[in-house]
Amino acid sequence: MQQTFEIVVIGGGPAGIAAAVAASQSSKRVAVLDDNPRVGGQIWRGGPGLAQPKAAARWFYQLETANVRVFNGARVIHADASARTLQAETTREIFPIGYQNLILATGARELFLPFPGWTLPNVMGAGGFQALVKSGLPIAGKRVVVAGTGPLLLAVAAYLCDHGANVARICEQASSSSLAAFALRMLAFPGKLREALSLRYKSRFAKYATQSWPVSAHGKISLESITISESGRLREIPCDYLACAFHLIPNTELPRMLGCHLNQEAFVETDELQQTLHQGIYCAGEPTGIGGVELSTIEGRIAGHAAANDKRAAAKLFPARARYRKLAAAMKQAFRLRPELATLAKPDTFLCRCEDVTLHQVRQHNSWKSAKLHTRCGMGPCQGRICGAAANFLFGWNIESARPPVFPARCESLAAISSLTSSLTTETEPPQFHGGFQ
Ligand SMILES: Cc1cc2nc3c(=O)[nH]c(=O)nc-3n(C[C@H](O)[C@H](O)[C@H](O)COP(=O)(O)OP(=O)(O)OC[C@H]3O[C@@H](n4cnc5c(N)ncnc54)[C@H](O)[C@@H]3O)c2cc1C
Repeated sequence: MQQTFEIVVIGGGPAGIAAAVAASQSSKRVAVLDDNPRVGGQIWRGGPGLAQPKAAARWFYQLETANVRVFNGARVIHADASARTLQAETTREIFPIGYQNLILATGARELFLPFPGWTLPNVMGAGGFQALVKSGLPIAGKRVVVAGTGPLLLAVAAYLCDHGANVARICEQASSSSLAAFALRMLAFPGKLREALSLRYKSRFAKYATQSWPVSAHGKISLESITISESGRLREIPCDYLACAFHLIPNTELPRMLGCHLNQEAFVETDELQQTLHQGIYCAGEPTGIGGVELSTIEGRIAGHAAANDKRAAAKLFPARARYRKLAAAMKQAFRLRPELATLAKPDTFLCRCEDVTLHQVRQHNSWKSAKLHTRCGMGPCQGRICGAAANFLFGWNIESARPPVFPARCESLAAISSLTSSLTTETEPPQFHGGFQ
């Protein structure tokens, strides 16, 4: 039977938790759905109980004591804006949830760019690797290189050092002058600066190289070494793991499927109350712009208050949001990707890791849609989350469509949602039934 809530939040990261807590201060019925076993999102992964920062513990306490129904392990795979209904899949079932107002707080993922050897075992996304270590992967004594760009590198390196890894190098593609300019901007955010210095202190035995990025990864069965470019010179570094992230990109599949408008930079467009162009659909956190945990929670609170129709409480938070948006703008500027990164992949490098489609095969096409239709690029289990973002960076292609299910789903779930969607039968793109579903 369908349960209906006045306010439903998708995503239990900092933005979603803050949105739910703020919304619950009204008398409205509020629910949060998150696909992880516990709330916390990327940064507070593992949820309450684990050693977490004080801010996280406060938010977990507020959520636990608020009148909010939390659905853990529930992944929203379909959302129908006209019926105001979601379909969420757990390991056991698929169930509908009705809503009056919806808050999308679906977060971000790391951008992973192709280079020769990037598909070797033990070459991983930096955040994904950190999540594996958090789940118990032993790394004490392992040699790790952390590479890419953005503050995530330092956070991951510090975490790995804390857990006994031998972090050989942190390769940051940005130049030292960009980083110096960013550090100056951070003087206005002493808390963030202290946090960055503390992360660097924890990872102090790892060399932090600027203007440095991976060129190729080598190994017979799994990773043995990587070649990096460092200030214009090539250098080979032996390592057991490469943790790689070229900053973050927003998870906008669900907002796009609901018809929310994206701006030129592919972030969800919202008004000052975090409402999308759809009445009653709000968006908060990383999908509206990569800005870090503080901005995510502030936007979450604004969206929560606004969805509960408390515009006055929402408006009080506008100055704090404006302040952290300045930091987000400085971060964007500092960690802008250099064009050389688009030249690393060779013609025989796989662009689509799921369907083994090479760069050469994809290059024969002039759009994402055409490449997908002819090569199955983007139609494997990740459904284009990795290669689509890479193609966007390499070719400037617009990754237009987002269709249900937004994640690979079980057949029974497909049957349940097929009654709700006409798009599976009316879209001109090929249905994704073969590789796209588990
Ligand atoms: C891999 C990774 C690791 C990071 N590690 C750090 C770190 O160590 N330190 C740091 O300062 N910052 C880190 N960040 C950045 C930090 O996560 C963000 O600044 C902040 O957490 C954003 O909060 P959010 O709520 O907007 O998104 P998130 O924290 O990403 O939360 C979004 C949540 O929504 C869930 N979700 C998405 N789609 C659905 C769906 N369809 N159905 C159900 N649930 C869904 C996600 O699983 C996730 O739990 C990391 C980011 C990433 C991507």
